[in-house]
Amino acid sequence: MEKKKRTMKKQLFQTDLNQLFTFIDNSPTAYHAAANLGQMLAGEGFLCLEEREKWELQPGGKYYVNRNGSAVIAFVIPEGEAKGFHMSAAHSDSPCFKVKESAEIVADDSYLKLNVEKYGGMILSTWLDRPLSIAGRLAFRGSRGIESHLVNLNRDAAIIPNVAIHMNRDMNKGVEYNPQTDMEPLIGSVGGKGIWLRELAEQAGMADYEILGADLFLYNRDKCRTIGVDDTFIAGPRLDDLECAFAGMTALMKEKPKEYINVCAVFDNEEVGSGTKQGADSTFLRDVLERICGRLGIDKETYHCMLAESFLISADNAHAMHPNHPEKADVTNRPVLNNGIVIKHHGSQKYATDAMSAAVMKDICLRAGVPFQAYANRSDIAGGSTLGNISTAQVSVSTVDIGLAQLAMHSAFETAGAEDIGYLIQALRTFYRD
Ligand code: ZN
Repeated sequence: MEKKKRTMKKQLFQTDLNQLFTFIDNSPTAYHAAANLGQMLAGEGFLCLEEREKWELQPGGKYYVNRNGSAVIAFVIPEGEAKGFHMSAAHSDSPCFKVKESAEIVADDSYLKLNVEKYGGMILSTWLDRPLSIAGRLAFRGSRGIESHLVNLNRDAAIIPNVAIHMNRDMNKGVEYNPQTDMEPLIGSVGGKGIWLRELAEQAGMADYEILGADLFLYNRDKCRTIGVDDTFIAGPRLDDLECAFAGMTALMKEKPKEYINVCAVFDNEEVGSGTKQGADSTFLRDVLERICGRLGIDKETYHCMLAESFLISADNAHAMHPNHPEKADVTNRPVLNNGIVIKHHGSQKYATDAMSAAVMKDICLRAGVPFQAYANRSDIAGGSTLGNISTAQVSVSTVDIGLAQLAMHSAFETAGAEDIGYLIQALRTFYRD
């Protein structure tokens, strides 16, 4: 019976899963993720708004705004008067390596390597011995000023080779990796100088000497897939936090609001502190909410009443109990894969959840028929942070921090539950519907 129920659930969520895999595979960087979200939204009839232009908004309208090419806020306006905002938030970036300026390094007159630096806090060892590629955006002077172009080498172009065990017999006792000396990717022989940059520039219809700016990153070439003898898990790069970004936008697109303005924000730069103009600590969300109200003729006093009636679900993946290291999990709050949405708690409020917002979230899950579980750090482990309390410092509304349980967070290849993505979409749809 239990097995039959699980199979049925899996079939139900299979479409979500396939779409998630396509989205992540096609989103090697935050720029690609934002562009793909924009495409999904446009396909569902959302109109693209430019921040530099005056907005024309209609009741019942669906819109999205992109900032910096790497963050997206989409919203749906109800036909009637709005009481407040129903919002979800996630992030588009993941830890990886940024390619530095003048990046080519020739080693011993034979190897060609790239000079890279860390973006975010990744598990360095997971980037070794696997096919990598280069993607991001290039800036050129075009006919209308400086223009940005998305680029992706999209082939197995780089590898960071391990040192052989014969040259480091202590390898299996733990290795400290130096990001400057140990992590330089090998991209070819010395004869291959310039190929990668020429190819990327060509994709933009330009020449390499015309490049004026570059945000290029290494990414893992592995594709998302199900894993386990019963296909019960998923594994792939960038599950944190493209899973939640995908779930938030999917739910937003599928529901028509009645009494609230539905908003989904996908911010960039969560992995490096959110402090950029496109991060959760920027004015992006506040700017969008204020502009919506301005264009709908909602005065400042009413806007503040609406904020007091609003709710934010900050969705960023959570640590599942590790099968080999159960001692790392909290004593009583031990989320596992496929057991539903994780509600995160933190005494010092690194997670914005409190009794009231936890209750609202649990009520949503119960109404959606979706399981939920709790996460807290062990009291002797500091843990991480996320967007919830950063975003609420900019737009102060009742907020809950949640996520999907996953293993190996910030590995180049992470593991999560195959059922959980469906649960999150269901819960967020219920939230956006009511
Ligand atoms: Zn995250």
